[in-house]
Amino acid sequence: MRVTLAVVAAVAAASPAQSRDSADLLIRDANVVDVADGRILRGQSVAVRGDRIVAVGPDRSVSRRFRVKRSVVATGKFVMPGLWDMHVHFGGGPELIAENKALLPLYVAYGITTVRDCAADISSSVLAWREGVAKGQLLGPTIFTSGPKLEGYKPIWKGTLEVGTPAEVNAALDKLQGMRVDFVKITDNTLKPDTFLYAVQEAKRRGLRTSAHTPYALTIDQAVDAGLSSIEHIDYLIKAGSPKEAEISAAYAAGKLSYGDATNAFVDTFDTNYARKAYRRLATKGVYVTPTLNMGRILAFLDREDHSTDEGLAYIGPGLRKTYDWRIDRAAKATPDQVAARHKEHELSMKVLPMLQAAGIPILAGTDAGYLNSFNYPGEGLHDEIELYVKAGLSAQQALASAVLTGPKFLRHADRYGAVAAGKTADLLVLDANPLRSVAATRKISAVVLHGRLLDRKALDKLLADAKAGAAPIRLQAKTN
Ligand SMILES: [Zn+2]
Repeated sequence: MRVTLAVVAAVAAASPAQSRDSADLLIRDANVVDVADGRILRGQSVAVRGDRIVAVGPDRSVSRRFRVKRSVVATGKFVMPGLWDMHVHFGGGPELIAENKALLPLYVAYGITTVRDCAADISSSVLAWREGVAKGQLLGPTIFTSGPKLEGYKPIWKGTLEVGTPAEVNAALDKLQGMRVDFVKITDNTLKPDTFLYAVQEAKRRGLRTSAHTPYALTIDQAVDAGLSSIEHIDYLIKAGSPKEAEISAAYAAGKLSYGDATNAFVDTFDTNYARKAYRRLATKGVYVTPTLNMGRILAFLDREDHSTDEGLAYIGPGLRKTYDWRIDRAAKATPDQVAARHKEHELSMKVLPMLQAAGIPILAGTDAGYLNSFNYPGEGLHDEIELYVKAGLSAQQALASAVLTGPKFLRHADRYGAVAAGKTADLLVLDANPLRSVAATRKISAVVLHGRLLDRKALDKLLADAKAGAAPIRLQAKTN
């Protein structure tokens, strides 16, 4: 049963206005979720002014203190910080800019109040949306973006900054700093290992965070020792958990192993005891990991899962939907051995995740949703991701922490995010059930507060309906094709 939030008009005349502070929104009598400590504070009221939380405390004291414009009674509901998806992409070429922009309200409708964009090919639009959201001109999650990523010469990716020498890396970083990017994304399609190491070191020297696909020719320790801040995708932690990592990396560098063979070799030589020590060592170096576990799962099981009736498809525009074909076609060409190897790799990833948590490596919940990555739906995907973390062995509290605490810490904004507390940004979820009991409760959204603005269930349903209407041409096209 879904209980609608009762909206109560403020009774400003009840006491002299001068004696009370003003607030724009008061959420009354809620259960506040303290994600860091994994506990619930009952009977709390949350006062919001502008885009900030100004007070949280027992209902009686907080509701007396404020003269408010809008008050909602949230008895029996659970208030927690909005979710962060720390790995998304906006991309697919200039003709898909409108479809990508339409994903912004979709994220909000699913309770995602912040996204970290990990580069693609429409960076100037993403940078403009970042400003639009920050200024309140555009309804969407707060965007942190890498801008265009660093790559080697002529990579398969579009929209990159191609670098092959220290001077080119310096020029690229100058350019990114000019764009005031929030971190630097580096991938390894054609990037040379020594250029990769230089880029990581130089970015760190400039005080920039880095996020990367590490070249196979390097060990993960080499990348992290150079100063890498976050490792994208859990596969690289399987690599780090192989006692033969250096040997296999060297064979790959010498051209004796293909990328696929090297991947299989890392999986086949993975050793639990060795990996535990490797992860503890990586944890002391302060590196973060974005597992994108659900993306791995979806790709691993494209051979046997039918996505044609996925509800999420209804929200994806025709152009973005078309970009899914790349992965689908690649999966269709896989041999039975390759399919079996993918399944095996995913099963191992599920074992690795709780080992990372136990070792103390901060986990960033991220989906890799956006374009190319088939059936990984913007918004919905993050809920799938954190549910998979619990299935892999994390507690609900740990899974929630990966989606509300580690992101702000990674981007050095923990002062403004990560808790329902005075002084924090008013990005909140009002849930019908307790997410510390089951993370699936994050799907039961009664309201979202976005930068202080209350979007009740009706408003969220309108966002979903609009997203569906905007994406509708795909269903007509699919029928005529
Ligand atoms: Zn990605």
